[in-house]
Amino acid sequence: MTGQAQQFASDNYAGACPEAVEAMLAANGGSAVAYGDDDWTQRASDCFRTLFATDAEVFFVFNGTAANSLALASLCQSYHSVICSSAAHVETDECGAPEFFSNGSKLLLAPSADGKLTPDAIRALATSRSDIHFPKPRVVTITQPTETGQVYSIAEVKAISAVCRELGLKLHMDGARFAHACAALDCTPAAITWEAGVDVLCFGGTKNGLAVGEAVIFFDPALAEDFAYRCKQAGQLASKMRFLSAPWIGLLESGAWLRNAEHGNACAARLAAQVADVAAVSLLFPVQANSVFLLAPEPVLDALLRRGWRFYTFIGGGARFMFAWDADPARIDELAADIREACAEAALPVAAAA
Ligand SMILES: *Cc1c(COP(=O)(O)O)cnc(C)c1O
Repeated sequence: MTGQAQQFASDNYAGACPEAVEAMLAANGGSAVAYGDDDWTQRASDCFRTLFATDAEVFFVFNGTAANSLALASLCQSYHSVICSSAAHVETDECGAPEFFSNGSKLLLAPSADGKLTPDAIRALATSRSDIHFPKPRVVTITQPTETGQVYSIAEVKAISAVCRELGLKLHMDGARFAHACAALDCTPAAITWEAGVDVLCFGGTKNGLAVGEAVIFFDPALAEDFAYRCKQAGQLASKMRFLSAPWIGLLESGAWLRNAEHGNACAARLAAQVADVAAVSLLFPVQANSVFLLAPEPVLDALLRRGWRFYTFIGGGARFMFAWDADPARIDELAADIREACAEAALPVAAAA
């Protein structure tokens, strides 16, 4: 520990979990073939095929922006378009990378407060134009869970994939926090992906306890053709690939991927429960995964900042708190206590502590 008190501004503040570090150290023994033709990478890919109970094609890249952008680019020609929520990370937080790597495929935005897409919104966008002057809709991307922590049910994913199939659209899932969705739904990874009609999944490792790395999983191997070249061209082919792939073995074989996510989700529920009776603050979104978005008056947020708490307010509109695999429940209790005191300081009503 660095001695700095734990913060919940981002789940990327966390270090790597022990299972990932141990696997990384194990992979560091001796030499291995470069550029992904090594046993560690083979084994990590097999771990995913076992976890998803299907014969998927698996690729390892450094971060989520690359995973999403390259996956979408592989599904599109430059004259195609990608339907997403107006709150989607690919739209708001990837600096135009999906358009860049696809050579110009346009993102078509469906306005959405909670970040979810609906079959109706997809249909409306996909059928709004059919003339040659408009980029042809080709892909739908959904974020599971959304940027504000909303989880699509299995039925919701199936309803979306049904409209995709009907309209000839591929379905991509941004799963930067995919494990948290599996934990929240208590379902198999297969149930909310290929079994529900998802074609390509970006499975986030960084927010699940890795130091670095995301996996791009193609459930239809035909769609993965030439993807390795795309990764290389984009600077995403790790020469010492084992260090990107082996930590996944630690995460997946030990079950840490799910335990870590369950812990994050439980921590979010803990904070939400502790401030549920504080009248001056409210939840902007239902707490379904590992995030809490608090709506609070400015003086309360200022008082929290003065007490040293860090949080973002540019996502979702409230103060965002994210809980990673290492979130310390005692520190969450301190945050909850400080929220109460901040309300009292701002002379706002605070219910009696339970
Ligand atoms: C964190 C995140 C990503 C990946 O971001 P990088 O910083 O590029 O790794 C992608 N999608 C969502 C929804 C995210 O929260």
